Amino acid sequence: MAMLDLRGITRRFGATMALDGVDLTVPSGGFCSLIGPSGCGKTTLLRIAAGFVAADRGQVLLDGRDIAGLPPHRRGLGFVFQSYALFPTKTVAQNIGFALMLRGDSRRAIDRRVADLAAMVRLTGLEDRFPHELSGGQQQRVALARALAPEPPVLLLDEPLSALDAGIRVHLRAEIRRIVDSLGITTVYVTHDQEEALAISDTVVVMRHGRILQSGTPQAVYLRPAHSFVAGFVGTANLLPCTIDAAGAAVRVGRMTVAVDDMTAARGGAGLLVWRPEHTTLTPMDHAVPGEGLAGTVEASAFLGPVVRLTLRIDAGGTVTADIATRAWSIAGGTMAARGSRFRIGIDPAFARVLP
Ligand code: ATP
Repeated sequence: MAMLDLRGITRRFGATMALDGVDLTVPSGGFCSLIGPSGCGKTTLLRIAAGFVAADRGQVLLDGRDIAGLPPHRRGLGFVFQSYALFPTKTVAQNIGFALMLRGDSRRAIDRRVADLAAMVRLTGLEDRFPHELSGGQQQRVALARALAPEPPVLLLDEPLSALDAGIRVHLRAEIRRIVDSLGITTVYVTHDQEEALAISDTVVVMRHGRILQSGTPQAVYLRPAHSFVAGFVGTANLLPCTIDAAGAAVRVGRMTVAVDDMTAARGGAGLLVWRPEHTTLTPMDHAVPGEGLAGTVEASAFLGPVVRLTLRIDAGGTVTADIATRAWSIAGGTMAARGSRFRIGIDPAFARVLP
């Protein structure tokens, strides 16, 4: 187990500022995911930690020891790429045992370790196959076992599942979490898939333009986004311009006052009201208290399986997304989602946020 600490990491490529003073600490045994739009610097940060790319400035510390001067193979970190990068002319067993052979482990020790790892990644029985005789998911399991073979204290994974089908991805991400947990390995995981990051991480780090915008537990990043970009990037968010009174206590959208429990991020003046579609409540106009909540009209609906997602145009201007449980929608005979239906729109104050 080891703590990985990246401090003040800066890297330019020509005119591109790929990383702009990034600080990231992953505690011993922690699982941290890096997410953000294409080009935000996720891969570069991982490559700097691994030693494939040098930082212009900053430190890479492993348990407090600066390893920035060491080449990749002397850092002792495990690395798994998006493209499995297996040796095509070596068998599964030879791929898994490669690093152990290089460092001169005995034949018996290698055989034992390879058998253990093959079992761990559920590849027992396929040890003599070549990579081209395996499915994509199986190849990625080999790549994972190969990275784990020398017992690295830290594992760095760069979009390891992005080439796989959705079903296999969901299965394999849970396997990866199970395996690194059982070994106590500190893990940094780069992904495009925000749902994947929420599902498997202790800490989700959202990056943009070479900087970290927010870092926190999956729940914190999803329920308490600190930045409008984070709110929109992780899941679906409603973002409505609002005004906040000078005391930072009351929130108004147009002429309506909106209740928000947590006003800690609010500043007097113009702001953004942020909440999730599942925290929107809808009351049919004929049941609603006149003047309460925002009035809106259903413009579109999408059946997503567990929920029906409605897009409503609000009278005061702007659109709002609301999820209604499919069960409630079915009971109402599907009429709730009808285009043109009028509702009073409420927001659960416990889950609404105000950003400056
Ligand atoms: P993606 O999700 O598309 O993989 P990313 O977040 O991993 O993107 P990086 O690959 O780290 O982003 O790239 C960050 C920025 O640095 C991008 O603008 C990219 O074009 C640039 N960049 C990365 N590597 C190089 C390189 N070797 N030469 C020039 N520019 C580079």
